[in-house]
Amino acid sequence: MKAITLHGPGDVRVESVPDPRIVDPTDVVLRVTTSAVCGSDLHQYHGRVAGLDPGVVMGHEFMGVVEEVGPAVRQIRKGDRVLAPFSISCGSCEWCRMRLPTQCTTTGRAVFGGRFGKQYPGGQAEAIRVPFADHMCEKVPAGMADEDVFFLGDILSTGYVCAENAAIRPGDTVAVFGAGPVGLLALQSAHLFGPSRVFVVDRVDYRLKLAEEMGGEPINLDRGDPAEQLRARTRGRGPDAVLECVGHEVPFAQAIQSVRAGGTVSSVGVYVESSIGFPAREAFFKDLTLRMGICNARNFIAPLMPLIQAGRLAPTRIITHTLPLGDTPRGYAIFDRKEDRAIKVMLKP
Ligand code: NAD
Ligand code: ZN
Repeated sequence: MKAITLHGPGDVRVESVPDPRIVDPTDVVLRVTTSAVCGSDLHQYHGRVAGLDPGVVMGHEFMGVVEEVGPAVRQIRKGDRVLAPFSISCGSCEWCRMRLPTQCTTTGRAVFGGRFGKQYPGGQAEAIRVPFADHMCEKVPAGMADEDVFFLGDILSTGYVCAENAAIRPGDTVAVFGAGPVGLLALQSAHLFGPSRVFVVDRVDYRLKLAEEMGGEPINLDRGDPAEQLRARTRGRGPDAVLECVGHEVPFAQAIQSVRAGGTVSSVGVYVESSIGFPAREAFFKDLTLRMGICNARNFIAPLMPLIQAGRLAPTRIITHTLPLGDTPRGYAIFDRKEDRAIKVMLKP
């Protein structure tokens, strides 16, 4: 089959690789119908992630139709259209039973196409093996398009958990750092909690423009220190909650500098570095609450589905490109360089 492989920084290729097959009796094999490029793929694309095998099949955002079913699978059948989360979990270890599937000991915290734990090829491909299928796969209701549900497997659940962890109360002011796909979906999710205003910080004007269309108030960080700009627009006080959706030391520090005393910083950006500096003294004296972490997306797929059906979350608004799989290297390049007004790049194998 055709798949997208990574060979070094900036070097993604369309290659022929062996077809996936059933390895364990609890596996299914999907024919991938929709896949996408994620901001987390960019960390790998930039060569910031150590320990990846050369030629790894990329991608952890995918969905598809079940083609083959292992003999121990009970609830998923051939022909079902299903969605799976980005991280791979068994559903029965101690951590999975604590509803922390990203900490699954059976898979060693594996991510499709990623570096932790056991290696599982990714979903930027014509087909993919999904282990622990009864636990991992969510059937998609008829009448919902792939794109409607797709982001529940990763970035919508991540944006949502970022907002939920920020403890936003009705009337609060909120700031989101990052107007990429995750930040824009965090903005949509923040609105579910009834804030009075949501600011969105980035430096890319076309992304800030979409944020504005989605009810955010844009702040361009190249026009002055974002913490100062936020204070100037909140009567000197700073937002009650700050949602960090970038994943670098600088925006993490800026989030801490921006939030009001006693406020909450909620961070979902991925830090590939093992440690980063942050203004600890300021965080301490501000008495702030910090929440951070990887998203246990498996937990959010079913609960958030009705909000999409009701139109309260409209994740398809972030899609700017839908490319054939063979065009994926260009998809990485424009998403990375923020060319051609790219926000979310979808792939159709
Ligand atoms: P992206 O790279 O498209 O978006 C990042 C945005 O941040 C860009 O628009 C960039 O211009 C902006 N930015 C850069 N510096 C900034 C600053 N100082 N202040 C404000 N904005 C700044 O990526 P994305 O797909 O939106 O993903 C965002 C982050 O979320 C990545 O780190 C990704 O790895 C992470 N992520 C985490 C999880 C999780 O489980 N926690 C899941 C998915 C993605
Ligand atoms: Zn992702």
